[in-house]
Amino acid sequence: MNRHDAVEYIASRSDYFSELSDRIWDHPEVRFTETFSSNILCRAFEAEGFQVKRGLAELPTSFVARYGGGKPCIGFLGEFDALPGMSQCPGIAERTPLESNINGHGCGHNLLGVGSLAAAFGLKKYLEENGLPGTVVYFGCPAEEGGSGKTFMARAHCFDEIDCAITWHPGACNGVPPGSFLANYLVKYQFTGISSHAAAFPQMGRSALDALELMNMGVQFLREHIIQDARIHYAITDTGGDSPNIVQPKATAMYQIRAPKTPQVEEIYQRVNRIAEGAAMMTDTKVDIKIMKGCSNTVPNVVMDRIMYRNLLEVPRPVCPDSEKKLVEALAATLKPQGAVVRQQVAAMPEYVVSAVQKQEILDRADETIQTFVLPYTPSDAPIPASSDVGDVSWVCPTSQIGTATWVAGTAPHTWQAVASGKTEFAHRSMLYAAQVMASTAIDLYSAPDQLKAAREELDRYLNGTPYHSPMPDDIHPSDLYNQ
Ligand SMILES: [Zn+2]
Ligand SMILES: [Zn+2]
Repeated sequence: MNRHDAVEYIASRSDYFSELSDRIWDHPEVRFTETFSSNILCRAFEAEGFQVKRGLAELPTSFVARYGGGKPCIGFLGEFDALPGMSQCPGIAERTPLESNINGHGCGHNLLGVGSLAAAFGLKKYLEENGLPGTVVYFGCPAEEGGSGKTFMARAHCFDEIDCAITWHPGACNGVPPGSFLANYLVKYQFTGISSHAAAFPQMGRSALDALELMNMGVQFLREHIIQDARIHYAITDTGGDSPNIVQPKATAMYQIRAPKTPQVEEIYQRVNRIAEGAAMMTDTKVDIKIMKGCSNTVPNVVMDRIMYRNLLEVPRPVCPDSEKKLVEALAATLKPQGAVVRQQVAAMPEYVVSAVQKQEILDRADETIQTFVLPYTPSDAPIPASSDVGDVSWVCPTSQIGTATWVAGTAPHTWQAVASGKTEFAHRSMLYAAQVMASTAIDLYSAPDQLKAAREELDRYLNGTPYHSPMPDDIHPSDLYNQ
Protein backbone atom coordinates (compact mmCIF):
# COMPACT_ATOMS: atom_id res chain seq x y z
CA MET A 1 0.00 0.00 0.00
CA ASN A 2 1.33 3.43 -0.89
CA ARG A 3 0.19 6.94 -0.02
CA HIS A 4 -2.20 7.04 -2.97
CA ASP A 5 -3.80 3.75 -1.85
CA ALA A 6 -4.27 5.18 1.65
CA VAL A 7 -6.10 8.15 0.11
CA GLU A 8 -8.31 5.74 -1.83
CA TYR A 9 -8.91 3.65 1.28
CA ILE A 10 -10.18 6.68 3.19
CA ALA A 11 -12.47 7.56 0.26
CA SER A 12 -13.84 3.98 0.23
CA ARG A 13 -15.14 4.50 3.78
CA SER A 14 -16.62 7.93 3.24
CA ASP A 15 -20.18 6.88 4.11
CA TYR A 16 -19.04 5.53 7.46
CA PHE A 17 -17.09 8.69 8.34
CA SER A 18 -19.95 10.96 7.23
CA GLU A 19 -22.42 9.06 9.36
CA LEU A 20 -20.16 9.32 12.43
CA SER A 21 -19.83 13.06 11.92
CA ASP A 22 -23.59 13.48 11.47
CA ARG A 23 -24.31 11.61 14.68
CA ILE A 24 -22.04 13.98 16.59
CA TRP A 25 -23.70 16.93 14.84
CA ASP A 26 -27.07 15.53 15.98
CA HIS A 27 -25.91 15.50 19.64
CA PRO A 28 -24.16 18.83 20.13
CA GLU A 29 -22.50 18.82 23.55
CA VAL A 30 -20.69 21.81 25.03
CA ARG A 31 -17.31 21.78 26.76
CA PHE A 32 -16.69 19.04 29.36
CA THR A 33 -20.09 17.36 28.72
CA GLU A 34 -19.24 15.57 25.44
CA THR A 35 -20.12 12.09 26.72
CA PHE A 36 -22.08 10.93 23.67
CA SER A 37 -19.60 12.32 21.14
CA SER A 38 -16.58 10.96 23.00
CA ASN A 39 -18.21 7.52 23.29
CA ILE A 40 -19.04 7.33 19.60
CA LEU A 41 -15.45 8.03 18.68
CA CYS A 42 -14.07 5.62 21.32
CA ARG A 43 -16.32 2.84 20.07
CA ALA A 44 -15.27 3.50 16.46
CA PHE A 45 -11.61 3.18 17.47
CA GLU A 46 -12.25 0.01 19.47
CA ALA A 47 -14.08 -1.54 16.51
CA GLU A 48 -11.07 -0.69 14.33
CA GLY A 49 -8.64 -2.49 16.65
CA PHE A 50 -7.23 0.51 18.50
CA GLN A 51 -6.62 0.35 22.26
CA VAL A 52 -8.61 3.07 23.93
CA LYS A 53 -7.97 4.71 27.30
CA ARG A 54 -10.58 7.17 28.54
CA GLY A 55 -10.45 10.04 30.99
CA LEU A 56 -7.00 11.66 30.80
CA ALA A 57 -5.87 14.74 32.74
CA GLU A 58 -9.00 14.90 34.96
CA LEU A 59 -11.10 15.29 31.81
CA PRO A 60 -13.73 12.52 31.81
CA THR A 61 -14.56 12.95 28.09
CA SER A 62 -10.96 12.91 26.88
CA PHE A 63 -9.36 9.74 25.55
CA VAL A 64 -6.40 8.34 23.70
CA ALA A 65 -6.61 5.60 21.03
CA ARG A 66 -3.43 3.71 20.09
CA TYR A 67 -2.55 1.25 17.37
CA GLY A 68 0.77 -0.55 16.80
CA GLY A 69 3.97 -0.08 18.75
CA GLY A 70 7.39 1.50 18.63
CA LYS A 71 8.68 4.42 16.64
CA PRO A 72 7.80 6.58 14.90
CA CYS A 73 4.83 7.57 16.98
CA ILE A 74 2.54 9.89 15.04
CA GLY A 75 -0.32 11.71 16.75
CA PHE A 76 -3.60 13.13 15.45
CA LEU A 77 -5.68 15.64 17.40
CA GLY A 78 -9.48 15.46 17.40
CA GLU A 79 -12.09 17.82 18.89
CA PHE A 80 -15.84 17.27 19.23
CA ASP A 81 -17.36 19.95 21.47
CA ALA A 82 -20.19 22.23 20.38
CA LEU A 83 -21.18 25.79 21.30
CA PRO A 84 -24.05 26.96 23.50
CA GLY A 85 -26.87 28.90 21.84
CA MET A 86 -25.85 27.86 18.33
CA SER A 87 -28.78 25.58 17.55
CA GLN A 88 -29.69 25.57 13.86
CA CYS A 89 -31.59 23.35 11.40
CA PRO A 90 -29.22 21.59 9.02
CA GLY A 91 -29.19 22.10 5.27
CA ILE A 92 -31.29 25.25 5.08
CA ALA A 93 -30.25 28.79 4.34
CA GLU A 94 -32.28 30.53 7.00
CA ARG A 95 -31.65 31.22 10.68
CA THR A 96 -33.87 28.55 12.27
CA PRO A 97 -32.91 27.16 15.68
CA LEU A 98 -33.89 23.57 16.42
CA GLU A 99 -36.47 23.16 19.14
CA SER A 100 -34.80 20.04 20.48
CA ASN A 101 -31.42 21.50 21.46
CA ILE A 102 -29.96 24.90 22.20
CA ASN A 103 -26.39 23.88 21.35
CA GLY A 104 -24.90 23.64 17.89
CA HIS A 105 -21.70 22.73 16.06
CA GLY A 106 -20.81 26.31 15.14
CA CYS A 107 -17.10 25.53 14.87
CA GLY A 108 -17.49 22.30 12.90
CA HIS A 109 -15.93 20.08 15.56
CA ASN A 110 -18.19 17.18 14.51
CA LEU A 111 -16.20 17.20 11.27
CA LEU A 112 -12.90 17.91 13.03
CA GLY A 113 -13.06 14.90 15.35
CA VAL A 114 -14.05 12.50 12.59
CA GLY A 115 -11.67 13.91 9.97
CA SER A 116 -8.73 13.25 12.28
CA LEU A 117 -10.13 9.79 13.07
CA ALA A 118 -10.29 9.00 9.34
CA ALA A 119 -6.65 10.09 8.97
CA ALA A 120 -5.65 7.81 11.87
CA PHE A 121 -7.54 4.93 10.23
CA GLY A 122 -5.70 5.62 6.96
CA LEU A 123 -2.26 5.55 8.61
CA LYS A 124 -3.16 2.39 10.53
CA LYS A 125 -4.20 0.66 7.29
CA TYR A 126 -0.90 1.70 5.70
CA LEU A 127 1.16 0.23 8.57
CA GLU A 128 -0.96 -2.91 8.71
CA GLU A 129 -0.92 -3.62 4.96
CA ASN A 130 2.83 -3.07 4.72
CA GLY A 131 3.65 -4.94 7.95
CA LEU A 132 5.50 -1.91 9.32
CA PRO A 133 6.32 -0.99 12.92
CA GLY A 134 5.25 2.32 14.39
CA THR A 135 2.43 3.77 16.49
CA VAL A 136 -0.67 5.69 15.48
CA VAL A 137 -2.12 7.74 18.33
CA TYR A 138 -5.35 9.75 18.30
CA PHE A 139 -6.10 12.18 21.11
CA GLY A 140 -9.75 12.86 21.83
CA CYS A 141 -9.47 16.44 23.09
CA PRO A 142 -12.60 17.84 24.73
CA ALA A 143 -13.54 21.41 25.64
CA GLU A 144 -11.61 23.33 22.99
CA GLU A 145 -14.23 26.07 23.23
CA GLY A 146 -13.53 27.92 26.44
CA GLY A 147 -12.05 24.95 28.27
CA SER A 148 -8.53 24.53 26.85
CA GLY A 149 -8.75 20.75 27.07
CA LYS A 150 -5.42 20.28 25.31
CA THR A 151 -3.67 22.63 27.74
CA PHE A 152 -4.76 20.42 30.64
CA MET A 153 -3.66 17.38 28.62
CA ALA A 154 -0.26 18.94 27.84
CA ARG A 155 0.19 19.81 31.54
CA ALA A 156 -0.45 16.13 32.34
CA HIS A 157 2.22 15.08 29.77
CA CYS A 158 -0.31 13.33 27.49
CA PHE A 159 1.52 14.40 24.33
CA ASP A 160 5.03 13.53 25.47
CA GLU A 161 5.03 10.14 23.70
CA ILE A 162 4.39 11.39 20.15
CA ASP A 163 7.03 12.44 17.61
CA CYS A 164 4.69 14.91 15.95
CA ALA A 165 1.05 16.04 15.97
CA ILE A 166 -1.20 16.57 12.97
CA THR A 167 -4.58 18.26 12.95
CA TRP A 168 -6.96 20.45 10.97
CA HIS A 169 -9.92 22.77 11.33
CA PRO A 170 -13.07 23.19 9.23
CA GLY A 171 -13.32 26.58 7.58
CA ALA A 172 -14.05 28.53 4.42
CA CYS A 173 -10.76 27.98 2.58
CA ASN A 174 -8.07 25.37 1.95
CA GLY A 175 -4.59 26.05 3.25
CA VAL A 176 -1.94 25.98 5.95
CA PRO A 177 -2.48 28.94 8.30
CA PRO A 178 0.66 31.04 7.88
CA GLY A 179 1.72 32.15 11.32
CA SER A 180 1.30 31.62 15.01
CA PHE A 181 -1.87 31.81 17.11
CA LEU A 182 -1.69 34.10 20.12
CA ALA A 183 -1.02 33.01 23.69
CA ASN A 184 -3.94 33.77 25.95
CA TYR A 185 -4.81 34.11 29.67
CA LEU A 186 -8.34 34.28 31.05
CA VAL A 187 -8.30 36.02 34.44
CA LYS A 188 -10.99 36.68 37.02
CA TYR A 189 -10.79 39.97 39.00
CA GLN A 190 -13.18 39.86 41.92
CA PHE A 191 -13.54 43.02 44.06
CA THR A 192 -15.02 43.01 47.54
CA GLY A 193 -16.19 46.18 49.33
CA ILE A 194 -18.70 47.03 52.05
CA SER A 195 -22.41 47.40 51.44
CA SER A 196 -24.27 50.42 52.78
CA HIS A 197 -27.32 52.63 52.23
CA ALA A 198 -26.11 54.91 49.45
CA ALA A 199 -27.98 58.02 50.72
CA ALA A 200 -28.13 57.57 54.51
CA PHE A 201 -24.67 56.10 55.22
CA PRO A 202 -22.45 56.49 52.13
CA GLN A 203 -19.44 57.05 54.40
CA MET A 204 -19.85 53.50 55.69
CA GLY A 205 -19.76 51.93 52.21
CA ARG A 206 -16.81 50.89 50.09
CA SER A 207 -17.85 50.31 46.47
CA ALA A 208 -16.48 47.27 44.66
CA LEU A 209 -18.15 48.56 41.50
CA ASP A 210 -16.17 51.82 41.74
CA ALA A 211 -13.02 49.74 42.03
CA LEU A 212 -13.94 47.74 38.95
CA GLU A 213 -14.67 50.90 36.95
CA LEU A 214 -11.34 52.40 37.98
CA MET A 215 -9.57 49.20 37.00
CA ASN A 216 -11.19 49.29 33.57
CA MET A 217 -10.17 52.91 33.15
CA GLY A 218 -6.61 52.11 34.12
CA VAL A 219 -6.52 49.30 31.56
CA GLN A 220 -7.81 51.67 28.85
CA PHE A 221 -4.72 53.79 29.45
CA LEU A 222 -2.50 50.71 29.53
CA ARG A 223 -3.60 49.73 26.02
CA GLU A 224 -1.54 52.59 24.58
CA HIS A 225 1.60 51.21 26.16
CA ILE A 226 1.63 47.56 25.22
CA ILE A 227 2.96 45.86 22.12
CA GLN A 228 0.93 46.31 18.96
CA ASP A 229 -0.14 42.68 18.59
CA ALA A 230 -1.40 42.26 22.17
CA ARG A 231 -5.12 42.35 22.90
CA ILE A 232 -6.97 42.94 26.19
CA HIS A 233 -10.70 42.15 26.29
CA TYR A 234 -13.04 42.18 29.27
CA ALA A 235 -16.58 41.38 30.37
CA ILE A 236 -18.21 42.55 33.61
CA THR A 237 -19.83 39.42 34.92
CA ASP A 238 -21.08 40.82 38.26
CA THR A 239 -21.94 44.47 38.82
CA GLY A 240 -22.85 43.84 42.45
CA GLY A 241 -26.58 44.40 42.13
CA ASP A 242 -29.43 46.19 40.40
CA SER A 243 -30.15 48.95 42.91
CA PRO A 244 -28.26 52.26 42.72
CA ASN A 245 -29.37 52.89 46.31
CA ILE A 246 -26.91 50.31 47.59
CA VAL A 247 -23.14 50.70 47.72
CA GLN A 248 -22.19 47.62 45.70
CA PRO A 249 -20.19 45.27 47.93
CA LYS A 250 -18.95 43.01 45.12
CA ALA A 251 -18.08 43.27 41.45
CA THR A 252 -16.32 40.91 39.06
CA ALA A 253 -14.75 41.18 35.63
CA MET A 254 -13.26 38.52 33.41
CA TYR A 255 -10.25 39.67 31.45
CA GLN A 256 -8.69 37.98 28.46
CA ILE A 257 -5.11 38.94 27.67
CA ARG A 258 -3.54 37.85 24.39
CA ALA A 259 -0.09 38.38 22.89
CA PRO A 260 2.15 36.64 20.35
CA LYS A 261 4.26 34.87 23.01
CA THR A 262 3.35 33.48 26.42
CA PRO A 263 5.99 35.58 28.32
CA GLN A 264 4.47 38.73 26.76
CA VAL A 265 1.03 37.72 28.06
CA GLU A 266 2.59 37.12 31.48
CA GLU A 267 4.15 40.59 31.50
CA ILE A 268 0.89 42.34 30.55
CA TYR A 269 -0.99 40.20 33.08
CA GLN A 270 1.32 41.46 35.86
CA ARG A 271 0.69 45.07 34.80
CA VAL A 272 -3.10 44.54 34.74
CA ASN A 273 -2.80 43.04 38.21
CA ARG A 274 -1.03 46.16 39.49
CA ILE A 275 -3.83 48.32 38.02
CA ALA A 276 -6.43 46.14 39.77
CA GLU A 277 -4.52 46.41 43.05
CA GLY A 278 -4.24 50.17 42.57
CA ALA A 279 -8.00 50.41 41.98
CA ALA A 280 -8.61 48.41 45.15
CA MET A 281 -6.29 50.69 47.11
CA MET A 282 -8.03 53.83 45.78
CA THR A 283 -11.43 52.57 46.85
CA ASP A 284 -10.42 50.84 50.08
CA THR A 285 -11.66 47.50 48.72
CA LYS A 286 -9.98 44.15 48.17
CA VAL A 287 -9.31 42.32 44.92
CA ASP A 288 -8.92 38.62 44.40
CA ILE A 289 -7.09 37.68 41.18
CA LYS A 290 -7.28 34.21 39.66
CA ILE A 291 -6.09 32.86 36.31
CA MET A 292 -8.98 30.70 35.15
CA LYS A 293 -7.22 29.22 32.16
CA GLY A 294 -4.52 29.89 29.64
CA CYS A 295 -3.06 28.56 26.45
CA SER A 296 0.31 28.99 24.75
CA ASN A 297 1.00 30.50 21.36
CA THR A 298 1.34 27.99 18.53
CA VAL A 299 4.85 27.24 17.36
CA PRO A 300 4.77 26.89 13.56
CA ASN A 301 6.73 24.04 12.05
CA VAL A 302 7.85 24.83 8.52
CA VAL A 303 9.17 21.30 7.86
CA MET A 304 5.77 19.76 8.56
CA ASP A 305 3.75 22.65 7.11
CA ARG A 306 5.56 22.30 3.76
CA ILE A 307 4.64 18.60 3.56
CA MET A 308 1.03 19.41 4.49
CA TYR A 309 0.94 22.11 1.81
CA ARG A 310 2.31 19.78 -0.86
CA ASN A 311 -0.35 17.24 0.00
CA LEU A 312 -3.08 19.90 -0.04
CA LEU A 313 -2.05 20.49 -3.66
CA GLU A 314 -1.61 16.82 -4.60
CA VAL A 315 -4.69 15.20 -3.08
CA PRO A 316 -7.69 15.75 -5.39
CA ARG A 317 -9.80 18.59 -4.05
CA PRO A 318 -13.49 18.07 -3.44
CA VAL A 319 -16.18 19.68 -5.57
CA CYS A 320 -19.65 20.65 -4.46
CA PRO A 321 -22.25 18.05 -5.53
CA ASP A 322 -24.86 19.28 -8.02
CA SER A 323 -27.61 18.40 -5.56
CA GLU A 324 -26.34 21.04 -3.12
CA LYS A 325 -25.50 23.86 -5.48
CA LYS A 326 -28.82 25.59 -4.78
CA LEU A 327 -28.25 25.40 -1.03
CA VAL A 328 -24.74 26.74 -1.40
CA GLU A 329 -26.01 29.68 -3.47
CA ALA A 330 -28.73 30.35 -0.91
CA LEU A 331 -26.25 30.24 1.99
CA ALA A 332 -23.94 32.53 0.05
CA ALA A 333 -26.84 34.95 -0.40
CA THR A 334 -27.20 35.25 3.39
CA LEU A 335 -23.65 36.57 3.46
CA LYS A 336 -24.42 39.10 0.77
CA PRO A 337 -22.77 40.36 -1.12
CA GLN A 338 -20.77 37.19 -0.69
CA GLY A 339 -17.75 38.22 -2.77
CA ALA A 340 -17.66 41.56 -0.98
CA VAL A 341 -17.50 39.83 2.42
CA VAL A 342 -14.51 37.79 1.30
CA ARG A 343 -12.84 40.89 -0.14
CA GLN A 344 -13.51 42.81 3.06
CA GLN A 345 -12.06 40.01 5.20
CA VAL A 346 -8.98 39.76 3.02
CA ALA A 347 -8.48 43.52 2.93
CA ALA A 348 -8.56 43.60 6.75
CA MET A 349 -5.79 41.00 7.00
CA PRO A 350 -2.35 42.47 7.54
CA GLU A 351 0.23 41.72 4.88
CA TYR A 352 2.19 39.53 7.26
CA VAL A 353 -0.81 37.19 7.55
CA VAL A 354 -1.71 37.07 3.87
CA SER A 355 0.92 38.05 1.33
CA ALA A 356 0.14 40.34 -1.60
CA VAL A 357 0.24 37.34 -3.97
CA GLN A 358 -2.16 35.39 -1.76
CA LYS A 359 -4.46 38.38 -1.48
CA GLN A 360 -4.62 38.73 -5.25
CA GLU A 361 -5.47 35.06 -5.76
CA ILE A 362 -8.28 35.28 -3.22
CA LEU A 363 -9.55 38.56 -4.66
CA ASP A 364 -9.58 37.07 -8.18
CA ARG A 365 -11.67 34.12 -6.98
CA ALA A 366 -13.63 35.81 -4.23
CA ASP A 367 -16.95 35.01 -5.89
CA GLU A 368 -16.46 31.23 -5.74
CA THR A 369 -19.12 29.97 -3.35
CA ILE A 370 -17.09 26.94 -2.29
CA GLN A 371 -13.42 27.64 -2.60
CA THR A 372 -11.58 24.99 -4.57
CA PHE A 373 -8.15 26.61 -4.59
CA VAL A 374 -5.42 26.21 -1.98
CA LEU A 375 -4.15 29.40 -0.42
CA PRO A 376 -0.45 29.79 -1.23
CA TYR A 377 1.68 28.86 1.77
CA THR A 378 4.12 31.44 3.08
CA PRO A 379 6.16 30.31 6.10
CA SER A 380 5.83 32.84 8.89
CA ASP A 381 5.68 33.08 12.65
CA ALA A 382 3.70 36.32 12.47
CA PRO A 383 0.80 36.46 14.91
CA ILE A 384 -2.65 35.30 13.83
CA PRO A 385 -5.27 37.23 15.85
CA ALA A 386 -6.89 34.22 17.54
CA SER A 387 -5.90 31.56 20.09
CA SER A 388 -6.09 27.78 20.21
CA ASP A 389 -5.17 25.12 22.72
CA VAL A 390 -3.29 23.40 19.88
CA GLY A 391 -0.61 25.91 20.94
CA ASP A 392 0.27 23.85 24.00
CA VAL A 393 0.70 20.70 21.92
CA SER A 394 2.99 22.61 19.55
CA TRP A 395 5.36 23.41 22.45
CA VAL A 396 5.69 19.70 23.27
CA CYS A 397 6.15 18.20 19.80
CA PRO A 398 6.33 19.45 16.19
CA THR A 399 2.74 20.24 15.21
CA SER A 400 1.05 21.18 11.95
CA GLN A 401 -2.54 22.00 11.09
CA ILE A 402 -4.50 22.79 7.97
CA GLY A 403 -7.89 24.24 7.17
CA THR A 404 -10.25 23.00 4.46
CA ALA A 405 -13.33 24.58 2.89
CA THR A 406 -16.20 22.84 4.63
CA TRP A 407 -18.26 26.04 4.59
CA VAL A 408 -19.41 28.52 1.98
CA ALA A 409 -16.77 31.17 1.30
CA GLY A 410 -17.08 34.08 3.68
CA THR A 411 -18.65 32.00 6.47
CA ALA A 412 -17.12 32.80 9.85
CA PRO A 413 -16.82 30.18 12.61
CA HIS A 414 -19.43 30.40 15.37
CA THR A 415 -22.25 31.37 13.00
CA TRP A 416 -25.54 29.68 12.15
CA GLN A 417 -24.33 29.27 8.55
CA ALA A 418 -21.46 27.11 9.81
CA VAL A 419 -23.92 24.96 11.80
CA ALA A 420 -26.31 24.68 8.82
CA SER A 421 -23.43 23.40 6.64
CA GLY A 422 -22.23 20.80 9.16
CA LYS A 423 -24.19 17.84 7.73
CA THR A 424 -23.98 18.64 4.03
CA GLU A 425 -22.31 16.48 1.43
CA PHE A 426 -19.87 19.29 0.58
CA ALA A 427 -18.80 19.45 4.23
CA HIS A 428 -18.38 15.67 4.30
CA ARG A 429 -16.25 15.78 1.15
CA SER A 430 -14.08 18.52 2.54
CA MET A 431 -13.67 16.59 5.81
CA LEU A 432 -12.53 13.58 3.77
CA TYR A 433 -10.09 15.77 1.85
CA ALA A 434 -8.60 16.97 5.16
CA ALA A 435 -8.29 13.35 6.34
CA GLN A 436 -6.55 12.33 3.11
CA VAL A 437 -4.10 15.25 3.32
CA MET A 438 -3.31 14.47 6.98
CA ALA A 439 -2.88 10.72 6.35
CA SER A 440 -0.64 11.46 3.35
CA THR A 441 1.47 13.81 5.48
CA ALA A 442 1.77 11.17 8.21
CA ILE A 443 2.89 8.59 5.63
CA ASP A 444 5.41 11.05 4.17
CA LEU A 445 6.84 11.73 7.63
CA TYR A 446 6.81 8.02 8.41
CA SER A 447 8.71 7.24 5.23
CA ALA A 448 11.26 10.03 5.71
CA PRO A 449 12.70 9.85 9.24
CA ASP A 450 15.09 12.68 8.34
CA GLN A 451 12.07 14.98 7.91
CA LEU A 452 10.68 13.96 11.29
CA LYS A 453 14.11 14.64 12.79
CA ALA A 454 14.30 18.01 11.00
CA ALA A 455 10.84 18.91 12.35
CA ARG A 456 12.02 18.16 15.91
CA GLU A 457 15.22 20.14 15.39
CA GLU A 458 13.17 23.11 14.18
CA LEU A 459 11.09 23.01 17.38
CA ASP A 460 14.23 22.65 19.51
CA ARG A 461 15.72 25.72 17.83
CA TYR A 462 12.57 27.70 18.64
CA LEU A 463 12.51 26.54 22.26
CA ASN A 464 16.23 27.21 22.62
CA GLY A 465 16.45 25.09 25.76
CA THR A 466 13.31 26.52 27.38
CA PRO A 467 11.15 23.63 28.56
CA TYR A 468 7.39 23.77 28.06
CA HIS A 469 5.78 25.57 30.95
CA SER A 470 2.00 25.25 31.18
CA PRO A 471 0.17 28.58 31.36
CA MET A 472 -2.50 26.77 33.34
CA PRO A 473 -1.73 27.24 37.07
CA ASP A 474 -1.25 24.00 39.02
CA ASP A 475 -4.20 24.74 41.29
CA ILE A 476 -6.69 25.06 38.42
CA HIS A 477 -8.51 21.86 37.51
CA PRO A 478 -10.99 21.19 34.69
CA SER A 479 -13.75 20.92 37.33
CA ASP A 480 -13.08 24.56 38.29
CA LEU A 481 -14.18 25.58 34.81
CA TYR A 482 -17.34 23.44 34.56
CA ASN A 483 -19.61 26.06 36.09
CA GLN A 484 -17.52 29.13 35.55
ZN1 LIG B 1 -14.44 27.78 17.79
ZN1 LIG C 1 -12.91 25.28 16.51
